[in-house]
Amino acid sequence: MKKYIYMDNAATTPVKQEVLDEMLPYFNVNYGNPSSIYTLGSKSKNAISIAREKIAKAINADAREIFFTAGGSEADNWAIKGIAYANKNKGNHIITSKIEHHAVLHTCQYLEKQGFRVTYLDVDQYGLIDLEQLKEAITDDTILISIMFANNEIGTIQPIKEIGEIAKEKGIYFHTDAVQAIGHIKIDVDELNIDLLSMSAHKFYGPKGIGALYVRRGVKIDSLIAGGGQERNKRAGTENVPGIVGMGKAIELAYENLEEKNAKLIKLRDRLIEKIFEKIDYVRLNGHPTNRLPGNVNVCFEFIEGESILLSLDMVGIAASSGSACTSGSLEPSHVLLAIGLSHEIAHGSVRLTLGDFNTEEEVDYVAEKLAEIVSRLRSMSPLYEKIKEEK
Ligand SMILES: *Cc1c(COP(=O)(O)O)cnc(C)c1O
Repeated sequence: MKKYIYMDNAATTPVKQEVLDEMLPYFNVNYGNPSSIYTLGSKSKNAISIAREKIAKAINADAREIFFTAGGSEADNWAIKGIAYANKNKGNHIITSKIEHHAVLHTCQYLEKQGFRVTYLDVDQYGLIDLEQLKEAITDDTILISIMFANNEIGTIQPIKEIGEIAKEKGIYFHTDAVQAIGHIKIDVDELNIDLLSMSAHKFYGPKGIGALYVRRGVKIDSLIAGGGQERNKRAGTENVPGIVGMGKAIELAYENLEEKNAKLIKLRDRLIEKIFEKIDYVRLNGHPTNRLPGNVNVCFEFIEGESILLSLDMVGIAASSGSACTSGSLEPSHVLLAIGLSHEIAHGSVRLTLGDFNTEEEVDYVAEKLAEIVSRLRSMSPLYEKIKEEK
């Protein structure tokens, strides 16, 4: 049997067996509508409460501050549009960064068409925003700062505590898209002064199509989905009970032995980076050398196309990605790689390998070896590379 190596854990993760086991009864045994008053309904309702508690506890929030959504994209849309609409009497200015996920960027662009003003902060070569530039961007009209916790492409972790302090001092709401961070990094919304936080279960071994928005008590936010009174009248629609149960279990598991798991991931990550640099020339590591997600490796191989590398990797049973999953397949290079200052040419040669709990050292070694073969083969067909070698 040909083995299959999955190194695209930033795109999605497999549902863990323990998570699936907890979800299954909520499809066809405990299938009651949580809003129904009979026993079968209250079973679902209780299961939702337990999951909500687990999620709240994981980020040091109150259960009443957790609102389930259909995933990270909805949470991002809701946080930004909901704050913009509910606070437009105070101002129309939003601050975000150039390297946000499209769920944030496209929401901001949509609001711009409706008369809101958006500042897109630059990032440095590592993908970090500049806190001074953030302070300078704030005006009397600023109602929201939305900066992602950790980047999905290059793994860079932003100075969230400092951003939270600035926002708090100025009395501006602070939203963070923590989809890549939650379940992978310890998060305390009080310590970090976070007012709104987006999460998605399928990025931490839970099911797809379920997420949540943390909304600090007292924050003024409009609802986007009208209907029944679910989620304390803030998000209508019959709850995704199996998904919610799965998300609760997944977050609990994610924070069990987190330090051990991360120590293992960092070791694997650094081994993969080391092997790539050892075997291949004209490579660059994208993102911050140390201040990055434990499982993230993002590299550019000069003179060749990331897409060709991915196809060749797939042929030997390795799943990886170039840029974000949403961008792959399009010819535009990643907005994140352009924002850290890469040229279009170099950005096209990018490959993202994201490690997870199921990857092993053997897999890392195998992938590095295959990558070296593939890069060398593709470069042998690249006139530019041949020319550079001749000149050397
Ligand atoms: C995956 C992802 C999202 C979108 O989450 P979905 O649940 O897939 O809608 C948003 N932001 C970031 C940073 C992500 O990685």
